[in-house]
Amino acid sequence: MDFASLGLSEKLVRATADQGYDTPSPIQAQAIPPVLAGQDVMAAAQTGTGKTAGFTLPLLQRLNETPRQGKGIRALILTPTRELAAQVHASVELYSKYMPTSSAVVFGGVKINPQIAQLRRGVDVLVATPGRLMDLHQQGAVHFNSVETLVLDEADRMLDMGFIRDIRKILALLPPKRQNLLFSATFSGDIRKLAQGILNNPVQVEVAVANATADKVEQSVFPVQQSLKSAMLSEMVGKNNWQQVLVFTRTKHGANRLTQKLEKDGITAAAIHGNKSQGARTRALSNFKAGTVRVLVATDIAARGLDIKQLPQVVNFELPNVPEDYIHRIGRTGRAGESGHALSLVSPDEGGMLAGIEKLIRKEIPRKTMDGYEAVHLPSNGPRTAPRGNGGRGRSPAGNGGGAGRSGNNGGGRGGNSARSGQARRPQRA
Ligand code: AMP
Repeated sequence: MDFASLGLSEKLVRATADQGYDTPSPIQAQAIPPVLAGQDVMAAAQTGTGKTAGFTLPLLQRLNETPRQGKGIRALILTPTRELAAQVHASVELYSKYMPTSSAVVFGGVKINPQIAQLRRGVDVLVATPGRLMDLHQQGAVHFNSVETLVLDEADRMLDMGFIRDIRKILALLPPKRQNLLFSATFSGDIRKLAQGILNNPVQVEVAVANATADKVEQSVFPVQQSLKSAMLSEMVGKNNWQQVLVFTRTKHGANRLTQKLEKDGITAAAIHGNKSQGARTRALSNFKAGTVRVLVATDIAARGLDIKQLPQVVNFELPNVPEDYIHRIGRTGRAGESGHALSLVSPDEGGMLAGIEKLIRKEIPRKTMDGYEAVHLPSNGPRTAPRGNGGRGRSPAGNGGGAGRSGNNGGGRGGNSARSGQARRPQRA
């Protein structure tokens, strides 16, 4: 099967060929035909599956089938993080290179005035994070009355990050007659509830998410004392001569501390997390991609959507609070059919979290040891969640909405009856 047989135009097929893609990924094969047909689509797919092209290609084709009227936005793509917004926008630009379609991206953390000026000139496709989009709307810089297609990308993460109220506000401003596409790594009860209120008789598309990713990646666990982890990591980087490794920590503070330790050991490293300016993050990422930084240390939210081609090695310096995040993390390696390695340094207090992850991926991750670092026992009956604070994530691990800081999952923006709905915390900016 090729892209043309899915009904995509020659211009789009050429743009995909320029990227070196010849075969649609499973999510693309399933999502492109219904999107082209104008149907609403609800897709379970995470980063790494080719989902971006899955909605971007047919969306561009539809825009080019009918002439634009006026300067208003015709397609609105909402993403949870700046990084993902920038990457989705880069994809829109790539795939629309043979078309007259104009596009823009807006997110917080950078100056708003250039964004206002750009919107004033008129764009067909706008990629946005919800917070900045609402700011722009309040300033009268963006109108939604010509939106034909809405895409919610990584909808699960948008809920996790407390964007539900902004999303509901935006939804209320959109024309009721439109096409809706919702992409989410998982379909929890909250997501289904959100989907019900947005999607009109959607086609459901699913690729085997969790295990497909997990199967492609060679995983291992090194049971070790917490206090020895950074020394062990430095030694691993050196011994294995890793030139590009993405390391996950649970907290921003932990990311900074580890970066300093690695630097002290003579390993170039940079941290990427929510307390870093947009400039610092972009710089860290480009240095990492260029190979001048060997280790990129990231928190879960900051790493969301990072698209680094052929990343060979991912290390979990600490396990994530939420088992699903483990799958997101290891999905950074072994992308688009390549094999990758994901290794976790696990201390005894993380034994319960490891058990939760192994339950989710339905397999036991092989244990390994390294000379000079005695393996420790990992009790599996420990806490399933983070033992030392939750790294500022404010998420409830079980996804049951009962945890501290989880906000608005009852549709509070529309006057939901939740007592919590009025006190939704500020959305976290990744
Ligand atoms: P995504 O899930 O959209 O973040 O895409 C993951 C990666 O797969 C990106 O680096 C894309 O450039 C790449 N990709 C998307 N579609 C294809 C395809 N059909 N064949 C090969 N690579 C692809």
